[in-house]
Amino acid sequence: MQLRRVAVLGGGPGGLYAARLLKLARPSCEVVVYEQGEPGTTFGFGVGLAAGTQRNLEAADPDTLRDIAAAGRRHDMTMQAGGRVARVHNDRLIGIARTELLTVLQRHAEKAGVRLEYGARRRAGDLDADIVIAADGVSSATREAGDFGADVETGRGLYLWCGTGFALTDAVFAAAGTEHGIFVTHAYPYSDGQSTFLIETDEPTWLRAGFDASTGPTPSDASDLTSLRYLEQAFAGPLRGHPLIGNRTRWTRFRTVRCQRWSCGRTVLLGDAAHTAHYSIGSGTKLAMEDAIALAEALDAEPDPAGAFGRYEATRRPAVQRLQELARRSQLWWESFPSRLHLPVEQLTVAYMTRAGNVPLGRFAATSPQVVATALGQYAGRPPRIPADITGWVLDQRLSGEGRQFPDRMLAASSFGTDLYLITDVVADPWGPAGDAVVARARDARAAGAGGFRFAGPADRPSVLTRMDLAERVRIEAGGLIVVDGPAGLRDDLAAGLVSGRADLVCLTGEEAA
Ligand SMILES: Cc1cc2nc3c(=O)[nH]c(=O)nc-3n(C[C@H](O)[C@H](O)[C@H](O)COP(=O)(O)OP(=O)(O)OC[C@H]3O[C@@H](n4cnc5c(N)ncnc54)[C@H](O)[C@@H]3O)c2cc1C
Repeated sequence: MQLRRVAVLGGGPGGLYAARLLKLARPSCEVVVYEQGEPGTTFGFGVGLAAGTQRNLEAADPDTLRDIAAAGRRHDMTMQAGGRVARVHNDRLIGIARTELLTVLQRHAEKAGVRLEYGARRRAGDLDADIVIAADGVSSATREAGDFGADVETGRGLYLWCGTGFALTDAVFAAAGTEHGIFVTHAYPYSDGQSTFLIETDEPTWLRAGFDASTGPTPSDASDLTSLRYLEQAFAGPLRGHPLIGNRTRWTRFRTVRCQRWSCGRTVLLGDAAHTAHYSIGSGTKLAMEDAIALAEALDAEPDPAGAFGRYEATRRPAVQRLQELARRSQLWWESFPSRLHLPVEQLTVAYMTRAGNVPLGRFAATSPQVVATALGQYAGRPPRIPADITGWVLDQRLSGEGRQFPDRMLAASSFGTDLYLITDVVADPWGPAGDAVVARARDARAAGAGGFRFAGPADRPSVLTRMDLAERVRIEAGGLIVVDGPAGLRDDLAAGLVSGRADLVCLTGEEAA
């Protein structure tokens, strides 16, 4: 397609990368990035980029990836709970300072011939160009003003994005109990002298700690120092006595953005402006940069903007939706994380890795055999081991306790005791109001003598995964024997749920898993 002038609104990772790729593909086209901030200043601290992202960036633009990788810091991941640590090996995950990432992308954009204009807030409609790429972030004014069919869902929990002035050895997930409740950090190193400390909590804890009073008066360009001072006491261990640093740091609820359309007329949305995915899967930057790759390719392949925007959206939407679904499950898992702190740290780590149904037990065992072997031992009450057929082994383990004995973890429908209460509710969010209602009913049933619960329902995989999550919540909050129905084709998911403490037994059905 012939383009005379392209305007890119927003100089974040998505906008800068799109501008470079476009300019490389058509040197005679004028490409201008309009960024309201000044170079070298941005929100947040470090971001993580996983192996798959690095491969995609390498294929699209090896020069840029080389500099990103050189500026980043590789690290493993650790889960800390109950005074113990589980380490997950991951030598292809890099953390990089957002400022550093943007500096690399600015340099490469300019090298390709892109013009960067800083320091003024612009409106997409005012920009003189054939097409406008609106990469203006999660709060995109372009999205709000346009006809994109946007839906913005706000998370239950609250988070604070801060940093500290030393490099952790590995990424750390850790909880801190305080008199007001539990706070959880996702922390990782991103340079030789800096680490991100993202801290989250639930609303009741946040209110008990009085942070509603400190959040309100904190101006949008300042940091909530009251919260930072409190949290550096709470996380004094992982922080090794270092202070927490703010960068426009205030309590926020994560916003998940979905749009029915990503383009309107000559304007196309890219990155967070079009879609967001919860930070716990560390994929927002990846999605924005992969959007840029697909948009540049679509503009090359199609004769007019409408065709190119349609092609770009058709290419990207399935991948974005898949990640948004993983992110949704991950967000719900983290929002309910404190309820799992009774688990030994290795089992907790398996629960973490399998929380969204994305990492099968066998794959995790291949990269972290020690963690999985120990978790399997904890689950079965036997010495640690990695059997050749993990799923088969998990299902074959005996279960005894509370006066019951089961030779393995598979209960045939014909052998259900009459004291099992049947739950067939289909809920989208097990920790939302529909889940609350199921828990209330389960408690009543327990009080009336139910020995446990059987969860049955649709056989498709998303339903089975959500059913396991609902079962887990009832197991924790109402107790009793928990049995989850699922098709034999989903044995791997069901086995992962057993090891993670989501259920005690499964009932394999003959249905086809969709
Ligand atoms: C707490 C947290 C942790 C995260 N951690 C990770 C992680 O580990 N890994 C990861 O991949 N992602 C992570 N993300 C997500 C990531 O930060 C975003 O997905 C990513 O920055 C999106 O890039 P973008 O270019 O679409 O938007 P942004 O980076 O938000 O850039 C948008 C730019 O547009 C500019 N702008 C907005 N409006 C205007 C206007 N009207 N005129 C001019 N300029 C304008 C803004 O100043 C900004 O610079 C995290 C996000 C959060 C909130």
